[in-house]
Amino acid sequence: MAAPSPVRVERHGAVAVVVIDQAPVNALSKGVRDGLRDAAAALAADPGVAAVVLSGGPGRFVAGADIREMNLPPDEPFVPDVIAAFEALDKPVVAAIDGPALGGGCELALGCDLRLASPKAQVGLTETRLGIIPGAGGTQRLPRLVGIAQAIALISEGRILKARDALALGILDAVVEGDLLAAAIARAPHAPKRRLSQAPVPAGDPAREDAAAAAALKGAKGVPAIAEAVRVVRASRTTAFSDGMADERATFLKLRESEEAKALRHLFFAEREAGKVPGLDGAKARPIAQAAVIGAGTMGAGIAVALADAGLPVTLVERDGEAAAAGLARVRDLYERPVRSGRLTQAQADARLAAIGATADWQALAQADLVIEAAFEDMAVKEDIFRRLDQVAKPGAVLASNTSYLDLDAIAEATARPKDVVGLHFFAPANVMRLLEVVRGKMTAPDVLVTALALAKRMGKQPVVAGNGESFIGNRIYAAYRRHAEYLVEDGAAPQEVDAALQAYGFAMGAFAVSDLSGLDIGYAMRQRRAATRDPAERYVVVADRLVEAGRLGRKTGAGWYAYDAAGAMSVDPAVAAMIAAARAAKGITPRAFTPDQIQRRLLAVMANEGAKALEEGIALRASDIDLVFINGYGFPRLKGGPMFAADAMGLGAVLGEMEAASAAGGAGSEPAPLLVELARAGGRFADWKG
Ligand code: NAD
Repeated sequence: MAAPSPVRVERHGAVAVVVIDQAPVNALSKGVRDGLRDAAAALAADPGVAAVVLSGGPGRFVAGADIREMNLPPDEPFVPDVIAAFEALDKPVVAAIDGPALGGGCELALGCDLRLASPKAQVGLTETRLGIIPGAGGTQRLPRLVGIAQAIALISEGRILKARDALALGILDAVVEGDLLAAAIARAPHAPKRRLSQAPVPAGDPAREDAAAAAALKGAKGVPAIAEAVRVVRASRTTAFSDGMADERATFLKLRESEEAKALRHLFFAEREAGKVPGLDGAKARPIAQAAVIGAGTMGAGIAVALADAGLPVTLVERDGEAAAAGLARVRDLYERPVRSGRLTQAQADARLAAIGATADWQALAQADLVIEAAFEDMAVKEDIFRRLDQVAKPGAVLASNTSYLDLDAIAEATARPKDVVGLHFFAPANVMRLLEVVRGKMTAPDVLVTALALAKRMGKQPVVAGNGESFIGNRIYAAYRRHAEYLVEDGAAPQEVDAALQAYGFAMGAFAVSDLSGLDIGYAMRQRRAATRDPAERYVVVADRLVEAGRLGRKTGAGWYAYDAAGAMSVDPAVAAMIAAARAAKGITPRAFTPDQIQRRLLAVMANEGAKALEEGIALRASDIDLVFINGYGFPRLKGGPMFAADAMGLGAVLGEMEAASAAGGAGSEPAPLLVELARAGGRFADWKG
């Protein structure tokens, strides 16, 4: 028996209501398209129907295409044909939008004669976020409704409009406060037939259109879909509607197959997958109404801002009054920039500042439902803090540590309530960076983990759950990447060549420029601490140590891997080249040349290999989680989908070959991961690995 259609037609007198009912969001899957096509055909043939209402039911309309189907060949009926069938009806069609009308859902609404919405509606052509352009008339109908300049801005940004804003722009005809469906049924028989396909594109100001196009291309960050969207929208003025539709469709289909679009679709699903964590069934988030942060340094201040931005009152607890005051000053500084740039009004910033207090009084912690420790990265300091915290924190409070690499289980053991302890590893600057590694200790209670995931969502962050292993996911992989960047340098590449290759790949910054920005002293201190336990068979490059010993701590001292002038402009420094030459000479290395492609492949293989080790150790749950970590925390290019996705695209056989060379160059610690070897031999992919 065929599955029941997700589309049904209800009659209200002479008005037919077409109801789309496909959980969760009425995506335009094949079943929905079939149902809509059949409904349009039946309504065309029914003289008893005077008008049609399209409804997605309470709280919904149509949230867009079925993104899973985009990895399959196109399958009829196509969305443009479904929309054309409704547009061709000789009776008015009214869209009743009670929720998200995005992408193809927005295009469906644009094919209607009247668009009514509730205040809950959201409207937008969001396709460029997925590396494609609207493929069902959006680029041709929207400019006919709002003009070319506005259409370029909306489509290139993938902007989602609230009902009131969409009304102001004329995309909606009315926002109905009461019963939306009843209003739509009442108005439908009197609605005029207004086909956007037959409307002219309004005359616009060419200067405004040029400016909109320039702004879109500037914000495109290399996304090919944005340039295409601008081109196709602009062409709507000079081409017939049908030709514009054909061009749009061909461009959509071409972009849909592009590597960039595949990478962005991968990330779309990766974000949804990341929230699925085994062992949490039935666990409910604990309520968090008041937060506290211990340590108001770089991270503590940023974390306090992130919490206050999410509407939570926060108390910063420091060692003494002076440090508390300094912490609060840091918080104030953090609010200056968004006010200057206009992202926040002074009043908004003041309100958030008022939600943040600072004190040296440890008793303040007794009020908090959530405490995040962000003190020095030193086990003795953390153990002492958690021991004392145990005495004052209220029962049931979530006790979190922002540790970068210390053993979370050891920290938890300092308390009598290790179940309440979780790692919340923020990235600097904590109020800006989207990544939050949520570290699950061996005792962490399921509801504590659920609370951490809910908190991440509340703060607008991307959580990724990590196991408690040395440096968790991101820093562990980054350390391998950085080490191999140094091996490349010692073997003959200049730091600026490595950085240029990484930037050409799409990284926001190269590895050496990042080190200079973070400060070379942190890594130096860590290397000193670990010197005694380091495997002598691991290759060690001394250049970074020599830089620190020469007082070159990075940007903050005006010199590191590069030199910096007073204005902060970076330049290549012959003194660094001399240190590198000395390091090579000491090991008898004859420098050789590396092409950008060789550098990119080597470092990608190293990241994927370390990622494979994190997977087989259970530190990362799935390959796509690692991709999210690198995209949201380390400047890995979104259009490449993350290191594991990019490794799959390169082919794991090739990655293994590259890793064998990397292993020869790096010695102990750089061996190919057994999982990589296994998958490469079996012709497998990280994406399909289920643990
Ligand atoms: P920081 O030195 O800037 O700040 C630490 C603050 O903690 C100082 O203000 C200090 O006075 C305070 N402090 C120390 N002991 C305390 C105590 N017993 N009680 C109350 N306050 C105390 O350090 P940071 O860079 O903000 O790092 C803090 C933590 O965050 C560390 O665990 C670090 O590994 C981690 N972390 C840092 C980064 C980063 O990029 N800096 C990123 C992620 C995680």
